Amino acid sequence: MKELPPYLELYRREMQRGRPHHAYLVGSGSALAVEFALYFLRGLNCLGPVQGCLPCGDCYCCKHDYMVSRQIEPEDGHISIDQIRDLAEFLDSTSVDGQFRCKGVIIEQAEKMTSTDAVNRTQENALLKTLEEPPVGSVLFLLSDVPSFFLPTIRSRTAFLPFYNVEMEEYRRHLGDLQFSQNEIQLLSKIADTSCTERRDLEFIVQCVAVARGLLKGSLEAEQVQFYLKNADQWERMLRVFHVYFRDALIFLQTGKHDRVYKIVPCNPYRVIEILQDIGRVRRILSTTHSNPRFQMLSLLSKHRCQTV
Ligand SMILES: [Zn+2]
Repeated sequence: MKELPPYLELYRREMQRGRPHHAYLVGSGSALAVEFALYFLRGLNCLGPVQGCLPCGDCYCCKHDYMVSRQIEPEDGHISIDQIRDLAEFLDSTSVDGQFRCKGVIIEQAEKMTSTDAVNRTQENALLKTLEEPPVGSVLFLLSDVPSFFLPTIRSRTAFLPFYNVEMEEYRRHLGDLQFSQNEIQLLSKIADTSCTERRDLEFIVQCVAVARGLLKGSLEAEQVQFYLKNADQWERMLRVFHVYFRDALIFLQTGKHDRVYKIVPCNPYRVIEILQDIGRVRRILSTTHSNPRFQMLSLLSKHRCQTV
């Protein structure tokens, strides 16, 4: 039997609605979300779906689904107006085999449509035109990790599909396959980047937790410092892990519970609050200014690495 995709529930729900929306804003930019969009499109076109709605994988339309889909992703950091126009043209053209019911376009990292012209948002407006008058039989998928970034006019014309939970389940299963314990899975899922499904991503998180633990104790080992400095430009991911770790550490300290995985050492909650505040400050600075990440991360480290609890 063929393995069922992890987004099956989401897929079924959408299919059961009957008529598909003409545009979706998918709350994830991961490879899994791309796979979902392609699967969905295949399901819409399949000539002999199985179990009610699943694409059979064997019919003409399933085998030739590449003919009815286009995918774009940012080039040189942004999605250009020409790319958007190409997509619109593709949807407008009638050159597709009559056996297909619909065509679909997938825009990866769709939030990058806005970066070149923040004031006029030319790309978004071009897209808006297509959204307002979608050609019959077309489906548009906007994939983005930051769905809140879009103009309200775009958001109101698309159906939002939260992809987050789907990926979490997939991720947990993956961790289980890698022989992580239930406790560890709970912790790692909580602090993981939702799009992280690679072993090296897990190692990154595990290392970050080790550094966070060291900061909490006020003593870091040389190799932890080395890891921290080497990955200073990954500050976004690292600080996100820290944030969750210290926030939970605070909860554990307040409730008097200790956790085997977090290995929280008894310490002054005010110190944890201070670390949390500093993490928040550095995140703010780095995401709103052109400050040097290395410098900011170093100052965060030197402030807290030798403090006693
Ligand atoms: Zn089929």
